[in-house]
Amino acid sequence: MLTSRETLLSTLETLPDALFVVDDATTIVYANASAQTMLGASREQFLGNPFWRGAPQLVSPSLYQAVQKTRQTRAPSEVEYVSPVTGTWLHVQLSPTLGGLTLQFHEVRALARRQEIVPLSEHLSIEDLDGLFSRIGVLTPKGIVLEINEVPLAEARVRREEVIGHPLTETRWWSFSPTSQEQLRAAIARASSGETVRFEAVIHPREGLDRHLDVAITPRKDADHHIAYLVIAGIDITERKRAEAEIHALIDAIPQLVWTTQPDGSHDLFNQRWHDYTGQSTAEAQGEGWMQCLHPEDRPRVRSAWQRAVQTGGVYETELRLRQNTIGEYRWFLARAMPIRDDTGQILKWFGTSTDIEEKKQAEEALRASQERASVLMNSSIIGIFFAEGEQIVDANDTYLRMTGYTREDLCEGHINWLRMTPPEYLARTQQARQELVIQQFGTPYEKEYACKDGSRLPVVVGVVALRRDPQLHTIGFMLDNSARKELEQRKDDFISMASHELRNPLTALKLQTALLHRQLDKHGTLDQVPALSSMQTQINKITRLVEDLLDVSKIQAGRLEYRQESVDLDALLREIVDTMQQTNPSHTILVHGTAEVSLLGDRDRLGQVFTNLLSNAIKYAPSAEAVEMELSASKDAVVVQVQDHGLGIPRELHDKIFDRFYRVTDPKQKAIPGLGMGLYIVAEIVRHHGGTLMVESEVGKGSTFQVTLPKKRDG
Ligand code: ADP
Repeated sequence: MLTSRETLLSTLETLPDALFVVDDATTIVYANASAQTMLGASREQFLGNPFWRGAPQLVSPSLYQAVQKTRQTRAPSEVEYVSPVTGTWLHVQLSPTLGGLTLQFHEVRALARRQEIVPLSEHLSIEDLDGLFSRIGVLTPKGIVLEINEVPLAEARVRREEVIGHPLTETRWWSFSPTSQEQLRAAIARASSGETVRFEAVIHPREGLDRHLDVAITPRKDADHHIAYLVIAGIDITERKRAEAEIHALIDAIPQLVWTTQPDGSHDLFNQRWHDYTGQSTAEAQGEGWMQCLHPEDRPRVRSAWQRAVQTGGVYETELRLRQNTIGEYRWFLARAMPIRDDTGQILKWFGTSTDIEEKKQAEEALRASQERASVLMNSSIIGIFFAEGEQIVDANDTYLRMTGYTREDLCEGHINWLRMTPPEYLARTQQARQELVIQQFGTPYEKEYACKDGSRLPVVVGVVALRRDPQLHTIGFMLDNSARKELEQRKDDFISMASHELRNPLTALKLQTALLHRQLDKHGTLDQVPALSSMQTQINKITRLVEDLLDVSKIQAGRLEYRQESVDLDALLREIVDTMQQTNPSHTILVHGTAEVSLLGDRDRLGQVFTNLLSNAIKYAPSAEAVEMELSASKDAVVVQVQDHGLGIPRELHDKIFDRFYRVTDPKQKAIPGLGMGLYIVAEIVRHHGGTLMVESEVGKGSTFQVTLPKKRDG
């Protein structure tokens, strides 16, 4: 036995073919001399090691398959393949032995282009995938590398034989970190149980190089449905990961809240802004958690809008309120999302943004509120509002139409023209307002009348603002019904007229009786009573003058002041007036310069009233002055009378107003001086009636000059 065993051994030793004997666990129990030569190592280095680790030069998926097959069938088999390390064709004969098998390797130099016995499909798949996947290898179910392609080897700068036959977990790609090793080990274990495993991992091919891989381990089964070997494929996703990281950084930098969702609509990712704004963590916000940040009132609406978008794959766009974590207040956002689809149109995920539109919302709200306010005014029945282009009313509210009696059809057909509605006597005032509008963009509201559609007159107050000029003036204006006020004014005028008439009769009687009494006292010599009576008469005269003025004012109002037409010697008239005034006002000296040397055609008493009034004002409103001056001069056509005082003066802006009925300057100094604001109104009216003009020049604190210009009589 011994001999024969030794003989056998020496026979084996002399065999030119490499011979290995492995046990059932494929541990090498014997290798001959040729085997040592082939592996380039001494027997001690690989005896007792698993074959797949001890003979990397010989390892190939085909061999592995053949070993498995022989172990299961217990029948001899053979396989031919190219050594992954030496590149030579190897022919291997496998024979089962008791508790193991022998493998006899024979280099087939002469054989060219022989096929490996590994199924063609399998072979092809590796080579084809080589271009597609950056890394591919074949592993035993225990994770020993049987085959590996060039890319990872080059990257790690290792030789194939340093890898083949070694557990993949212990190669430098995976051994750098226990976590990665553990991850791979677990994946191999799962794949070995028949599952296809996919995971992302970071590998470390060499110093200073990290690669992010998308790894898939696919178990391959033999005909008996045993796991024969595992194919491990890794796609380099380092760039994608970097791009993703950049995109995340970018997304975090976007001022919007950004989020992504699964195809089913459940939210999975949020950018930093989202977390900062809502205070929610990703875990809290995922799925439907983000809805907690929604305003409760918005939730049902937003949920159904989102569900609809997810179901139809259409655009999602909705406005919603999100709670700001720090202050607990809600702000308006515009949320939008769009689906990202793959080549087949399948939705991969949704990409959404929420943009803060609070300020826009507030501006809109403010606009709406102001529009509402404007429209309340527009639709109110108290104020007529109109828009005009030139003379044409192009739009108006109902109140305007109701007031003027026009219809909306009239408006649309362009039948409303404010100039045609203006009665002739208001044309001048209207034109003045128009002028003002052009100069200062708005016209001070003024009173006028409009001729309504039916011809009736409507007293109104009108105010207009210029909008633009292109080329006609576009205006917007309001109109208020002024009839109530006008009626009241009329009643007041009527009252004044009546009152002054009623007062005149008893005054006349009083005047007559005091005159009679005066005469009787004179006759009976009861002279001590005379001064009292005189002062009574003075007061009666004052009242009489006031009543006369009042009567004149109401007559002017009604256009019923009567004038005589006579030749008036102006010099004589003025002398007479000055004499009388000087007698009753000894406090001031009235100085007269120049002469008029002219007679006028007019009403002597009324003209007298003009100069009496001006002189009496000059004295009255210059209480501390000593003199009042009157200057007469004449030109070819006209005579000019100036009455000048050195008194209180009148502010410039009131120069027009003092000629208005009942107007009095409200300055305390002026107010302290008695008066009713009728004098200048009457003066202006009389001068106007005589075809003259009345002007004032005045400075506060210096005095005033009133100038009356009257046209000379033309006697042909
Ligand atoms: P009154 O009866 O108040 O004097 P008038 O119609 O004569 O009424 O004058 C109108 C207003 O004009 C007066 O209240 C006064 O304030 C002002 N006024 C008229 N004349 C003068 C003047 N010479 N100097 C200063 N103020 C004057």
